[in-house]
Amino acid sequence: PETITVGELANRMAERSADVVKTLMKMGMMVTANQTIDADTAELVIEEFGHRTVRVSDADVEQVIDSVEDREEDLRSRPPIITIMGHVDHGKTSLLDRIRQANVVSGEAGGITQHIGAYQVRAESGALLSFLDTPGHAAFTSMRARGANVTDIVVLVVAADDAVMPQTVEAISHAKAAGVPMIVAINKIDKPTANPQKVRTDLLQHEVVVEAMSGDVQDVEVSAHTGQGIDQLLEAIALQAEILELRANPQRSALGAVIEAKLDVGRGPVATVLVQNGTLKQGDIFVVGEQWGKVRALINDKGDRVTEAGPSTPVEVLGLNGTPEAGDVLNVVETEAQAREIADYRVQAAKDKRAAAGAATTLQELMAKA
Ligand code: GDP
Ligand code: MG
Repeated sequence: PETITVGELANRMAERSADVVKTLMKMGMMVTANQTIDADTAELVIEEFGHRTVRVSDADVEQVIDSVEDREEDLRSRPPIITIMGHVDHGKTSLLDRIRQANVVSGEAGGITQHIGAYQVRAESGALLSFLDTPGHAAFTSMRARGANVTDIVVLVVAADDAVMPQTVEAISHAKAAGVPMIVAINKIDKPTANPQKVRTDLLQHEVVVEAMSGDVQDVEVSAHTGQGIDQLLEAIALQAEILELRANPQRSALGAVIEAKLDVGRGPVATVLVQNGTLKQGDIFVVGEQWGKVRALINDKGDRVTEAGPSTPVEVLGLNGTPEAGDVLNVVETEAQAREIADYRVQAAKDKRAAAGAATTLQELMAKA
């Protein structure tokens, strides 16, 4: 006769085995998760659960996810993660392109770098730096709103021929609100009309006191066009990172944030994940927002397949069951059952939240009509 273990039955129903055991107990059968039951009994159990979903609680999800605590001796220094912000047309994209280029080893096949939403470069001193490839404030704030604080350092780009503008001020307040240190890149220094001193004095009015004005915010004159000052900027970032003493535990299971995700025709759902702690490995089972999966392949910012990605490394992840959203947090878990359980729970929780919001509106509408 056909049999199934209680655990597997729970798995297939996306229920907790403890709940299945409890149900069997109510039916008069004393079994554990590892024991088998026959198909008829299984059918009764399935009926018993019906279409009703037994919900795991937030606490259960947290317990599965936050079970690893880093020990002091396991912590290692990790590269900083940098976001470039500043007023429109002050040169954010040009600067990101220049930094990426500056680092392409000469002779490398055309220097083609994959655009996966983030990239890593090495400063002359040898320090690795991870740049988020989406400049601008919307990305920064929406990631933060979703609980992903992925930025360690903000590079504030200010064009030397334009000085401080409204979005410069906005960027300053975002960085301050997030408690993220800033480095000022005074860009377009190649222009005849460049007035870097005006940038420095303008910044004073917004309580950003650069080193040249005896403050403690590093400022570097750069040109995204000529490449002037780019090396100094990278060293300034490396220095700031050293001061921050950024550390992570490469030994633990990975925790990361989605910075980009898409449904790729050939490859299925693909997400670029910035590993924040631990090491993400091929074969790892994970839950990410309302999705889950098993790492089928990892591809780095150079387009190469890698078997693992450590702290502060951006990597494309293949093997997702669905497409997550930017800002979703990725956690590696022990088993597929856990991953599925947490993802299901989150889907249901999101549904409930929407239903509650919908009901509230309807109620409001009713009240308004009355
Ligand atoms: P973003 O809107 O901040 O991303 O700015 P972009 O990178 O798109 O640059 C806006 C304009 O400024 C473009 O026409 C760039 O070519 C120009 N630009 C950017 N950096 C420099 C620079 O260092 N020197 C000069 N002369 N022009 C620059
Ligand atoms: Mg741009």
